[in-house]
Amino acid sequence: MTVTREEAGYRPKKERIYDFGEVEQTLNEKDRRLQASRCMDCGIPFCHWGCPVGSKIPEWQDAVYRGNKEEAYYILHSTNSFPEITGRICPAPCEKSCVLAIHEEAVTIRENECATVEQAFDSEIIKANPPKKRTGKKVAVIGSGPAGLSAADLLNRAGHWVTVLEKNDAVGGLMRYGIPDFKLNKNVIDRRLGLFAEEGMEFRTNVNVGVDISKEELLIEYDAVVLAMGAEQPRNLSVEGRDLDGVHFAMDFLRQQNKFVAGQVISEEERISAKHKNVLVIGGGDTGSDCVGTSIRQKASSVTQIEILPKPGEKREDNNPWPYWPNTLRTSSSHKEGCERRWNLSTKRFIGENGKLKQVELVQVEWNKDENGRWAMNEVPETNEIIDVYLAFLSMGFTQPVHVGLLEQLGVNFDPRGNVKVDGKKQTSIEKIFAAGDVEKGASLVVHAIQAGKVAAKNVDDFLRNHE
Ligand SMILES: Cc1cc2nc3c(=O)[nH]c(=O)nc-3n(C[C@H](O)[C@H](O)[C@H](O)COP(=O)(O)OP(=O)(O)OC[C@H]3O[C@@H](n4cnc5c(N)ncnc54)[C@H](O)[C@@H]3O)c2cc1C
Ligand code: SF4
Repeated sequence: MTVTREEAGYRPKKERIYDFGEVEQTLNEKDRRLQASRCMDCGIPFCHWGCPVGSKIPEWQDAVYRGNKEEAYYILHSTNSFPEITGRICPAPCEKSCVLAIHEEAVTIRENECATVEQAFDSEIIKANPPKKRTGKKVAVIGSGPAGLSAADLLNRAGHWVTVLEKNDAVGGLMRYGIPDFKLNKNVIDRRLGLFAEEGMEFRTNVNVGVDISKEELLIEYDAVVLAMGAEQPRNLSVEGRDLDGVHFAMDFLRQQNKFVAGQVISEEERISAKHKNVLVIGGGDTGSDCVGTSIRQKASSVTQIEILPKPGEKREDNNPWPYWPNTLRTSSSHKEGCERRWNLSTKRFIGENGKLKQVELVQVEWNKDENGRWAMNEVPETNEIIDVYLAFLSMGFTQPVHVGLLEQLGVNFDPRGNVKVDGKKQTSIEKIFAAGDVEKGASLVVHAIQAGKVAAKNVDDFLRNHE
């Protein structure tokens, strides 16, 4: 009751926008323990209901408060293979459902999580722990994002031989080639992968399953398969001028920047650079925010982010009470670095000159309920405007996993949204094939992918043990 919430905060803006280092800072150990002491041990904690991996939050807060680093890490890691990653980039639904948040500010659960793992690494508490016994069963995990790696970790720990097959040149999925380095330093992923390799997990990169390995080879070679291929089909904007030079999918820009930071050579022709350009980011979500932060670091002249939906409120509405996720305005570190954010705007067309983007026509929209109570969007007459833009990023989400290739070859069933259809055990319509993460849920969050990987691993393990 005497300690207030204290966040570590971001590095100063005037410093961080000149590099791609992580923006978030950390508290000293004494202050961190004080923050953990704010957890009230409230009797019926909702935080672990809010946390998709069911983290036993009050227990490890208490261990942090008592200074027992080993116990804190052990409890934290017992429900999550990557607390060092969720501790950095999880939107922390746990904090939104923290009981303290009813009248006060929530416990800094996410930051405490990150600090707990970092201290455990620093104190050499975290060591490779290979399984004592091997079952002889072989599992292929296709895709090395958080869903695939979470499933791979648990299956390896259960004693199965696990091979992770990844079409990119490096392991990590969107954590590697999507989420910018200023949110997640890639050494954090490599550190954990090093442990996995010591524990006997095999990684094969530059392997596009369905092209480099056929369906038949896959099913003969492995006793079970986990599809963890993500939802890579971006939502397009089919308006006039879409093909102009300067209009890109957000992922093409973000992926390239991550490769650049990793030291890969990008040719002049290929390079998508925001330097000295007016940038328009279309889509108000997290991917869009990452385009904002990346454009600012590339020294864009101006950055505008537009969203077709109305601006969310600052506070919860009555129909969106605690402990649910609040549908309120979110402002990221990138937004604070200097961008204009606008809402209720639709993109009419891209305007070019000599094949290059020069301007974009926008129109204001309004949202009203129709006679069936459904929200309907209408353009507001005479609100068209044309703005000067030299680079536009489409970051309007992802529609579904890519069907062409492996998924079509396997012949798995899809749900009405085009995601791979699974049952409660994450099993697809084909017996020895399971699926986890964005590939079956649709584009979501790292923490959901980790949880999906856990569920798939448990059921693959049961499946393999029942088919000795
Ligand atoms: C720009 C961006 C920023 C984000 N920021 C956050 C954030 O801050 N916090 C958060 O919680 N979530 C964030 N997300 C969402 C999060 O990254 C995803 O929900 C999560 O990574 C999904 O995990 P996954 O394992 O299902 O798939 P992915 O991470 O997409 O991994 C799928 C992998 O499968 C590989 N693959 C696909 N097909 C094949 C094939 N045929 N053969 C071999 N390999 C294949 C792909 O190359 C990829 O590496 C962000 C997403 C984006 C795009
Ligand atoms: S994984 Fe996310 S929701 Fe769960 S405890 Fe960590 S920050 Fe909270």
